[in-house]
Amino acid sequence: MWNRREFLRAGLCAGAAMALAGCRMGRDAEEGEDAMEKLITTLGPLEASAVGMILPHEHVFVDLRTPDVPGQGEADAQDVVALMAPELEKARAAGVTAIVECSPEGVGRNAAILKAVSEAAAYPLVAPTGIYREPWVPRWAQEASEDALHEWMLGELQGEIEGSGVQAAWIKLSAGDDGITEIERKILRAAARAGAETGAILGSHTRRGRVLHEQLDIVEAAGYTPERFIWIHAQNDTLALNLEVAARGAWIEYDAIGGGREDAFWIGRIQAMLEAGHGEQVMLSHDRGWYDPAKPGGGTPKAFTYISEQFLPKLAAAGVDEATIEMLTATNPFRAFAR
Ligand SMILES: [Zn+2]
Repeated sequence: MWNRREFLRAGLCAGAAMALAGCRMGRDAEEGEDAMEKLITTLGPLEASAVGMILPHEHVFVDLRTPDVPGQGEADAQDVVALMAPELEKARAAGVTAIVECSPEGVGRNAAILKAVSEAAAYPLVAPTGIYREPWVPRWAQEASEDALHEWMLGELQGEIEGSGVQAAWIKLSAGDDGITEIERKILRAAARAGAETGAILGSHTRRGRVLHEQLDIVEAAGYTPERFIWIHAQNDTLALNLEVAARGAWIEYDAIGGGREDAFWIGRIQAMLEAGHGEQVMLSHDRGWYDPAKPGGGTPKAFTYISEQFLPKLAAAGVDEATIEMLTATNPFRAFAR
């Protein structure tokens, strides 16, 4: 653990130096001596040795009002820094070395704010391109062609998000509970093509798993693979469907730990996935945070520390060994999000 933190510090310094040098993140290094996969963060690309435990689904800044509401997704960056930088510091103290931000276009994504919070706390965040589901799909994306959406995602995955200096690491999507709509289908096809070209992973908020097979069919038809697709909120459907989707190769994300359900529920799902031989496809997170522009002062954030401080000791006590916990919390999320 201590070694990992030392590595993290070294990695962050290297990342900051690259940013200062105006280096186009990742690309220059990859064209050099090694093509090792890296986690693209707000502080630059990090190698596996520079990170340990990663939370694959949290939020620093999100606004769940629809984009037509005036002021949606807007806040003073310094207010967000004041509320959320201490939360990142608490996460670091609890052994969490990086956090994946899961707010795409439509729910107030703001890479400049993420960068400000990240730099204030010297803490790496992993930012997405992509678009949330209807009715959060912004008008420009409703009207855009599949090709235009593909170009837009590619631009953020290879360059930066809206002049923020932050490169997108991955693609966040969502599907409606009652079935995937035509617009969501268009966005997913564009995403699968951009993923196939960059290696970026796709993650979809999909609460009703029956939509999953259809989403995976679309991904395959667009030339990509279920192995680069995360079923976000997989806990909301049956274990049987989790296993079925895992058998197609997709990632299964259990991401409301510390929320409404008993810890025994999560432990049961994790053990079942391990017993079925799908442990290498499972990730764990809280879906917590965040600064909410709809609330006075951004509201009261929930700490990113429940899993490391409360849940993992219980998982260990239930018989899951240290190496498996390392796989679930460090190796798996790095493999999923690095490229
Ligand atoms: Zn979320």
